[in-house]
Amino acid sequence: MSKMSRKAAALPHLRRAGLSKGDPVALPLTMTSMYHLPGDPAGARQYGRFDNPTWEAAEHQLAHLEDAGIVAFPSGMAAISAAFFALLKSGDRILLPSDGYYTGRVLAERFLKPFGVTADLRPTTGFADGGFAGYRLVFLETPSNPGLDICDIAAVAKAARAAGAIVVADNTTMTPYGQRPLDLGADLVVSADTKAVNGHSDVLFGHVATRDEALLSTLRDWRKLSGAIPGPFEAWLVHRGLETLDVRLERMCNSAEIIAARLAERKDVVAVRYPGLPDDPGHALARAQMQRFGFLIGLTLPSKAQAERFIGACPLIQPATSFGGVHTSAERRARWGDAVAPGFVRLSIGCEPVEALWPAVAEALDAAG
Ligand SMILES: *Cc1c(COP(=O)(O)O)cnc(C)c1O
Repeated sequence: MSKMSRKAAALPHLRRAGLSKGDPVALPLTMTSMYHLPGDPAGARQYGRFDNPTWEAAEHQLAHLEDAGIVAFPSGMAAISAAFFALLKSGDRILLPSDGYYTGRVLAERFLKPFGVTADLRPTTGFADGGFAGYRLVFLETPSNPGLDICDIAAVAKAARAAGAIVVADNTTMTPYGQRPLDLGADLVVSADTKAVNGHSDVLFGHVATRDEALLSTLRDWRKLSGAIPGPFEAWLVHRGLETLDVRLERMCNSAEIIAARLAERKDVVAVRYPGLPDDPGHALARAQMQRFGFLIGLTLPSKAQAERFIGACPLIQPATSFGGVHTSAERRARWGDAVAPGFVRLSIGCEPVEALWPAVAEALDAAG
């Protein structure tokens, strides 16, 4: 049995060891800013910005999956901001992917630069080319969003750490079940749990995972002092979402494998990017370092108009930005200025049965052509 199957099986039982007779089996939602705190405050929960039992429960599940210490944040960007602002200082250089989630680059340009932190950009394909000398922090994202290019996490981590950098991996597109960057040598994982981890498109959330106690404690202090804390109800919803992540991800990735292969056979589809396709440029690396091939597919249609017609025509595709929900969703990424073809569609495969989903996708392609 695989390690991740054992973890998936144990996840819904994590609370059991802490229960007393008569306690609720389901996680209570603790909405409080204050804790009963007479006398010496040491050793107790003190204030709602420092601790919350509902965050702790979600962090416990994520710690179980990541084999690491966890700090939960109110969004994926809050987790990435924590990694930047808590760990960098004036004069540092950092390396970001030129093709990954664009907000990280905007944040660096707009708010790190004035503090004297310089960001260089490099494409995910060939991310290690040129080495990592002089970088304090190296941030990778694989498969990259939206292009689904892949870099070798172990090779980047080894070279970047040898050069003295902290290696941060954005694992949003894969989740801890699909890819394990800490096992491959990264110092820190950041994740937008807004996406597949929560999975129900009703919450923004994020986390940082690390096995380095010093980094963990710095990130905890950052959260407490900056006030970038998650809401207890959001943590409660993520806790519930995590209980089904294994099942949802399995369905989504299995369906994506089938749909990507069928899209690749169609004459009206100019190109398909999916790490699970044997002729995808990232396939060999994906096989070597990913547990699953993911639920995101990049497909290029001949034109902007055809792509918009396709998205609009399919009753089982939700036109929306963001991804990882139980419902299939899609958008044309060029509408946000990503460096992709005008007809490039990022398709996020949901939990609909594939025998219903594929015919709906195929009919929408027919209708759009
Ligand atoms: C969505 C996303 C983020 C940001 O997450 P938010 O919860 O929207 O702040 C970061 N990285 C990647 C790869 C994402 O897809």
